[in-house]
Amino acid sequence: MLAIKDLKFHYPTGNFSLSLSDFSVAKGEKVAVIGPSGSGKTTLLNLVSGITPFVQGEIKVGEYAINELADAQRRDFRICNIGFVFQEFELIDYLNVHDNILHPYRINAALTLDQNVRARAAALAKSMGLGDKLKRAISKLSHGEKQRTAICRALLPIPRLILADEATGNLDPENKTRILDLLFEAVAEHKATLLAVTHDHELLNKFDRVIDFRDFQVEEAA
Ligand code: ADP
Ligand code: MG
Repeated sequence: MLAIKDLKFHYPTGNFSLSLSDFSVAKGEKVAVIGPSGSGKTTLLNLVSGITPFVQGEIKVGEYAINELADAQRRDFRICNIGFVFQEFELIDYLNVHDNILHPYRINAALTLDQNVRARAAALAKSMGLGDKLKRAISKLSHGEKQRTAICRALLPIPRLILADEATGNLDPENKTRILDLLFEAVAEHKATLLAVTHDHELLNKFDRVIDFRDFQVEEAA
């Protein structure tokens, strides 16, 4: 589902660099990404999602080599195929929970908002414990509720690849397990693939595989 080859990346400024010679995730696999702060976990998710362009190497998501897509194509591809739960949520403060979840459908021609999508949005919000908070402003949500709103928004388009950047951070242990179970259910139900950055080492045994970014830094230094 995800195949990275000979990827070399550095930002225009600063001296961080990421080098991945061979990394792949099978369809349906649930992979946890761990590693110290600043080791490039978020950078990797941004590269895989096509948010950050790169010039050296190849990233394939399914049959698409995202480095070969033009900007607009890459954007549409991301919107239809990738569910991204951002570390900082990226929710829109002046919209309520319901409108945040539906927002990608309102701004992207690649997604069509119909009754079926609205019904799924309501069901998803309910399953995430947000059923009674749909009309609430983002600023009046707890951290965990914001997190769950961001997850609903990411899952609504039924993405083939789910990228979660510390989606269970800052939640109490019970909620953590619940959120992860919901993410796993979404993955299983739609035969999706999950790449999740996490600091919750007690949850790692629930994943199929764990990737430690410290290993890549060793590779980089070699
Ligand atoms: P992590 O998610 O593992 O904490 P990041 O991928 O966010 O790490 O960051 C990796 C490194 O890249 C850090 O040193 C960070 O300062 C740097 N970095 C992140 N974004 C940019 C950027 N836009 N420009 C320059 N350097 C950046
Ligand atoms: Mg990060």
